[in-house]
Amino acid sequence: MKHLFAWQLRARGGLFLRALLFFCASAWLLTCTPAVEKRFATAADVRHRPSDEPVRRPGAGRACCREYLSYAPDTLHLDHTPVKYIRVNFHIMNAADSSRNFAEAEGRKYVHELLRYATANLERNRKMFLPPGNDTPVLPVRYRYVLTPAQHDGTDDGIYFHYDDELSFYVVKGANRNNHTRDVIRRYGIGTDSILNIFLMPHHPDSIASPTYKGTGCGIALTDAVKLAGIYENEIPPWEARKMLNHEIGHILGLAHTWAYNDGCDDTPRNPGCWIRGEEPPCDSLASNNVMDYNVYQNAWTPCQIGKAHYAMSRLHARVRRLLQPRWCVRHPDRTIVVRDSVHWRGMKDLEGDLVIADGGVLQISCRVSLPKGARIVVEPGGRLILDNCRLHNACGDQWLGIELQRQGKRRGELVFVGKPVIDDVQHPLALPQKAPLN
Ligand SMILES: [Zn+2]
Repeated sequence: MKHLFAWQLRARGGLFLRALLFFCASAWLLTCTPAVEKRFATAADVRHRPSDEPVRRPGAGRACCREYLSYAPDTLHLDHTPVKYIRVNFHIMNAADSSRNFAEAEGRKYVHELLRYATANLERNRKMFLPPGNDTPVLPVRYRYVLTPAQHDGTDDGIYFHYDDELSFYVVKGANRNNHTRDVIRRYGIGTDSILNIFLMPHHPDSIASPTYKGTGCGIALTDAVKLAGIYENEIPPWEARKMLNHEIGHILGLAHTWAYNDGCDDTPRNPGCWIRGEEPPCDSLASNNVMDYNVYQNAWTPCQIGKAHYAMSRLHARVRRLLQPRWCVRHPDRTIVVRDSVHWRGMKDLEGDLVIADGGVLQISCRVSLPKGARIVVEPGGRLILDNCRLHNACGDQWLGIELQRQGKRRGELVFVGKPVIDDVQHPLALPQKAPLN
């Protein structure tokens, strides 16, 4: 018992010594480690570097800003490509006697299932079949659809039913062909300036009556609306119709068919247009599963196609951009991007939170980047931000805070200008010097 007590005393003594040591070490750190100073950058902080590419005009970005592959998601830094959300609504077009399309409860269920299956494909991109033996990367698609009511009064769920014998029907062939007309969109479209309107239409009963008319499932994309036809009368299940939806929205995002023409992408080979992989040539080896071909799969997007879609959504004046939820307007603290390695942003971006370049991180920005209202860019000690003829701004008509440079002793966050970057809509501007910066 006595022996044990002595041991306990020794142990306590040891504890005391360790606590004392810890205290001394902390005190030393407190007195010897310089505090981190934070302040907004001024023109005097900027180091200028010449540009190796001619500057077209200040802030216009580099040639890479117009290349589709610059917009393919970077799998090492997926958060650098925020998911884009396309607002959609649905119109179920029916005859006046309601005999030609889904009843309302059934139609609502169908739309929700259609969206669920279409989203499942977006969430799980597949490897390309073509060219045979390819090593084309399978990248995440990084866009989604969001069913969007026009009114937020609880009565509007973004799914509408219309009963109209004149405008409800789709005619793909013949004298009364109307698949490309906008009449039904003009009459029944809701929020067409900001929501992609999708019309589920029956083929015209008079057309169906003709033995030469094919009333199969088909669709068309008309800039800001989509018409899908033949779903109800052919009893096309939602998991099947998802392909039509993803294909037509692909067109809305600027994607073209790949089988016969140059679609602007090198990773989507032309092909004989096989419906399914079969045993006979050429469909034993040359069937496509690309979403923009006609085939039974339609579940593969290539890096160039994904990049092309994101390029379209990033262009400030593109029509499709108006269809997106502007999630980049409000600053989300949980969507801060932290750069810890060397990264080059070759495409335009709309950030949804702050941007931090941490110790050891180097970020080169070569195109337009929008920061949300109240957001800041922080360059920590040991980090470097290179603004390469780019434009920083707020794409929502608000202001972002500015570039905060941090310093700790001799180590500081660095700010480098290449060419003539432009910093707009900022609460703490740099107050550039009068002399023109180097080119
Ligand atoms: Zn098409």
